[in-house]
Amino acid sequence: MSKKNYYDILGVSKTADLAEIKKAYRKLAMKYHPDRNPGNKEAEEMFKEAASAYEIISDEKKRAQYDQYGHDGYQNMQSGGGQHTNMDDIFKNFGDMFGGADFGDIFGQGAPRRKKSGPTPQRGHDLAQEVTLTLKDAYLGTKKEISYYHAFACSECNHQGFKNKTDVVTCGQCKGAGQVRYQQGFFAVSQPCHACQGQGYSIKNPCTNCKGQSRKQEFERFSVTIPQGIFDGAELRIAQKGDAGIYGGPSGDLFLRIKITPDKKFHRIENDLVSNLMLTYPQLVLGCQIEIENIDGTKISVKVPKGCPVGEKIIVAGKGFTKLKGFGTGNLIIITQCHIPKKLTAEQKESLDTFAQQLGTDVTDHQDGFISSIFKKFLG
Ligand SMILES: [Zn+2]
Ligand SMILES: [Zn+2]
Repeated sequence: MSKKNYYDILGVSKTADLAEIKKAYRKLAMKYHPDRNPGNKEAEEMFKEAASAYEIISDEKKRAQYDQYGHDGYQNMQSGGGQHTNMDDIFKNFGDMFGGADFGDIFGQGAPRRKKSGPTPQRGHDLAQEVTLTLKDAYLGTKKEISYYHAFACSECNHQGFKNKTDVVTCGQCKGAGQVRYQQGFFAVSQPCHACQGQGYSIKNPCTNCKGQSRKQEFERFSVTIPQGIFDGAELRIAQKGDAGIYGGPSGDLFLRIKITPDKKFHRIENDLVSNLMLTYPQLVLGCQIEIENIDGTKISVKVPKGCPVGEKIIVAGKGFTKLKGFGTGNLIIITQCHIPKKLTAEQKESLDTFAQQLGTDVTDHQDGFISSIFKKFLG
């Protein structure tokens, strides 16, 4: 530790006035404050030195003695006293030296002290509900009944939590600020007021209906129209059907999250409705006019062209989903499939065999023949 004199430590001239000395100390104290230099021993020593210097130089009587006897002389006279070694002592002096609130503000602790005269209105929470629909519901649009519990504004107290304005009493402890301040060493600390739980007021006669909460949980039930063309994962917002606001704040919204269960026969691709159509081999080969049932139960006549391959898309225009955004509708897309029968009557088999022969295709059951011959071999 350097044995400079106190003026050098503070960086002021011997003729410096109290304002200059204060300013210089303040600068040093902030620079070397342990909270800003955790674990830095050197900073701590500088901090202590500055505190010692300030204690002497800021005091008119001590300063005069110091000037008269010089640094070492003064030190000896004080028999080592006057030198701060205890950090707590240094901190204790801060409040007096600069005024606690002032210092707190420097460190960004100065919270605005707005007086609260009563409860602050707050917006209610948004709520969400899952709504499960069938693909047919989505195709046609539907009405769904929604039921749930949520917070309602208390009607008895007009969402105030109390009946008369005189029921709100400003907290005597914090004078309505909701916060109390005290000096903790170097800092001015703000902390929520215990007496009023940081509210700044108390309510003398809370509304008995809502227990002073300004709202109550109640059951809600209403019907909602789900538009045609709604898709899986869509979110419908119903304004102000969430929780009521606190103390008269605006209500939150209700979000309906749409979930669509898969359909056995139909599926959706963008705005098209897609379905497979099972046809027999002759129908595919010869072509046909066939009646199919759409997802909504309506009958649609579909023309399967001659020589239609499997996997062909037959498009029925305008029979898909109503577009949720913009105008128009998607298409119904029929994908042709071939039904392969597992069992045939003897007559059917004979016809097919004849047909195969005419085509020149081999329909002999080679696999069966091969296995039979092995068995013959084993069994002799
Ligand atoms: Zn209070
Ligand atoms: Zn009430």
